[in-house]
Amino acid sequence: MHDVNADLHCHSTVSDGTLSPEQLARRAKDHGVELWSLTDHDELAGQPRAAAAARSVGLDYLAGVEISVSFCEQTVHIVGLGIDTDDRALLQGLADTRSGRARRAQAMGESLAAVGIAGAYDGAEAFAGNPDLVTRTHFARWLVSTGVCRDAHDVFRRYLTPGKPGYVAQQWASLRDAVGWIRGAGGIAVIAHPARYKFTANQEWALFEEFKAHGGRAVEVQTAAHTASDVARYVGSALEYGLLASRGSDFHSPDESRVELGALPPLPPALTPVWSELQERIARA
Ligand code: AMP
Ligand code: MN
Ligand code: MN
Ligand code: MN
Repeated sequence: MHDVNADLHCHSTVSDGTLSPEQLARRAKDHGVELWSLTDHDELAGQPRAAAAARSVGLDYLAGVEISVSFCEQTVHIVGLGIDTDDRALLQGLADTRSGRARRAQAMGESLAAVGIAGAYDGAEAFAGNPDLVTRTHFARWLVSTGVCRDAHDVFRRYLTPGKPGYVAQQWASLRDAVGWIRGAGGIAVIAHPARYKFTANQEWALFEEFKAHGGRAVEVQTAAHTASDVARYVGSALEYGLLASRGSDFHSPDESRVELGALPPLPPALTPVWSELQERIARA
C-alpha cells in the first residue's frame, strides 16, 4: 500500500486551480501518479470529468472534495475521499457552503477599494472558472497580474489574511456537518494540511478530538505545506489519535505550486494509508 503513488489532493478550474480536470489527469499520469483524487473546494462539478479523464489516461480514481469549515474562529479544510458524488445531503451541504461566496467577494472588493485598489471584484471574477466559486486565490492572481503584488506570497502577507485589507471573515460549514456529509456519502473525512492552522495546542487538541468524535478518520501527513518537521509532528498525531494518513500535493497551478503532482515523499511505514480503507471505493482504470 505504501508504495502506491497516491496524490489525493489538488484543484482544477472548477475551484481555484488553473488546469482543467482533463489536464490534471494527464499531468498526474505523466508525473507517475497511480491513484488520484481531484478535491475542488466545496464543489463536485468536476468529479465526472475527473473520473472519466482518469480512466482514459489509466489512473485509479477516488472521488474527492475539500470542504471549508469554521472552527475556533479560523478556517479549517476537511477533505472527503471516496464519496458518492450523487449523495443529496452532501450536494446540498456544499451548495449551502458556497452560497455566501458572491457576497463575500463583493465585500472583499470593497475592502480593497477602501485602501485605493479599485476593480478587484471584477478582476477576481474574471480569473474564476466557476462564478459560484470566487476565492481568495482569484483575488491573489488579479493582484499579481496588475502588479500590485509580486507573487501570491506577497499577496497573502499584505492582503486577504486576518487583519489585512481585503480579508472578510466567512462562516463556513461546521466541523460536525462537514464530517457528517462525507460519512453519509460513504467517504472518509481527512483533516487537510494541519500545520497551516494557527491554533494553540489546546485548540489543535480540540480539533482532533472533535473530528474523531464526529467520525473523522484520517489526517494529511504528506502535503506541500508541510516541512519535514511538520511531517514528523503529524506522524505523531496520526499515531496518538489512531488516524489513517493521507498524501496530497494540494497542486493548484504549474506556475504557483511548489510541489508537483505525485512528487511528495511516501508516507512513513508506521502509518496506515487512508487508501487502504478505500479499496472498494476506487474506480479502477
Ligand atoms: P478562500 O476559500 O476564498 O478563503 O481561499 C482559500 C484559498 O486561498 C486556499 O485554498 C489557497 O488556495 C489560497 N491561500 C490561502 N492562504 C494562502 C497563502 N498564504 N499562500 C497562497 N495561497 C493561499
Ligand atoms: Mn485553494
Ligand atoms: Mn486547503
Ligand atoms: Mn486544497
